[in-house]
Amino acid sequence: MILKKCRLCDSKKLFKFLDLGSHPPSDQFKKKIELDTPTTNYPLQVNSCLSCGFKQLSYVVEPEILYQQNYPYESSLTYQVKKHFDEFVKSIFKDYNLKKNDLAVDIGSNTGVLLSVFKKNNLRIVGVDPASNICKIANRKSIPTINSFFDRNAVNKILKKKGKAQIITGTNVFAHVNDLKLFLKNIKRLIHNKRGILVIEVPHFLTLIKNLEYDTIYHEHLSYISVIPLIPFLKKFKLEIVDIQQREVHGGSIRIIISEIGNYRVKKSVLKICNMEKKAKLNSRKVLVNFQRKVIQNRIKLTALLTKLKKMKKKIVILSAPAKGMTLLNYCKIDKDYIDYATEKSSLKQNLFTPGGNIPVYSDDKILKTKPHYALLLAWNFSKEIINNNIKYLKKGGKFIIPIPDIKIISYKTKRK
Ligand SMILES: [Zn+2]
Repeated sequence: MILKKCRLCDSKKLFKFLDLGSHPPSDQFKKKIELDTPTTNYPLQVNSCLSCGFKQLSYVVEPEILYQQNYPYESSLTYQVKKHFDEFVKSIFKDYNLKKNDLAVDIGSNTGVLLSVFKKNNLRIVGVDPASNICKIANRKSIPTINSFFDRNAVNKILKKKGKAQIITGTNVFAHVNDLKLFLKNIKRLIHNKRGILVIEVPHFLTLIKNLEYDTIYHEHLSYISVIPLIPFLKKFKLEIVDIQQREVHGGSIRIIISEIGNYRVKKSVLKICNMEKKAKLNSRKVLVNFQRKVIQNRIKLTALLTKLKKMKKKIVILSAPAKGMTLLNYCKIDKDYIDYATEKSSLKQNLFTPGGNIPVYSDDKILKTKPHYALLLAWNFSKEIINNNIKYLKKGGKFIIPIPDIKIISYKTKRK
């Protein structure tokens, strides 16, 4: 479905500043028997709204296609993510006076990592997630989870069973929602209107553009969030941003805390982030076109490097196969001609093949067994942790290629420097 008007302000004045070509959905890893079935590709292009500045994909793939039953993303497999959630809950408790038995609802709750931290702090909890396999895992861990999109029916169920929510969270959910107006209407019905808060955590478009994180653009991410366009949009729902915190996770995220207008004092952080966005000129055509130019250069440099290494008969593999890695691979047309195999910590993706490039995926330990010369690191946001976990591979002479923002080769020698 082509998006003809801005998701926030309905303006039809949209400026396409980035075209990454056509891609299969990044989570559609294939089974061996499916390798011959054709893959459907969808356009991956980003528009900037010339009226409000909101950044959004030009084409929306139906959620039924994107969020299939066996969604292969199991959150929080890394220490960094776990630590992040613990810290998240601590700061919210302190600032917003949550009480025992308050209700916490997590949208897109996955296997319930964040909710389990709320539970530990004596809140009542409920999760909502559209992937049935993920819900089963959560419910088995005693995290009550409704298998549904966050829609009217799901909200009705929660209201009936548990009442209004004092805190609603959505980490990396907001950017996935096509109808944000309906989303906020449902939030308004569920949230406690006197002291309820909505906390969303999203990758910040400012960081995306600064660090050339073009690989974080994929079909599931319909919007690329900056704060300034959100302010008038939220106001239509009598909501306001009361605090924004910057976070390192996923290559640079912002945590936005929202409540009904007047409930809480608005912190200085909101103005600070808005000023940063203004200074970066996120709506300037020149800035946006320059971004596209840098993306093309990154592709040229990376494919030149891989081609050179292949000519030298080097074995190259991929370590970690996150969704965003698929954008990079498919945009740069890196397939099994370059790459022997990929590895992934999450067992949900193992023994499958990457969408588009058909690269087989195995568990991480294959790297030590086969000792390839180079491992391309697609989860660069966790590079420090991944490199430390694979220090044995480096010691044995292996090297990492980090593709973004600048292409870097890391060996045991350079790592120690
Ligand atoms: Zn707009």
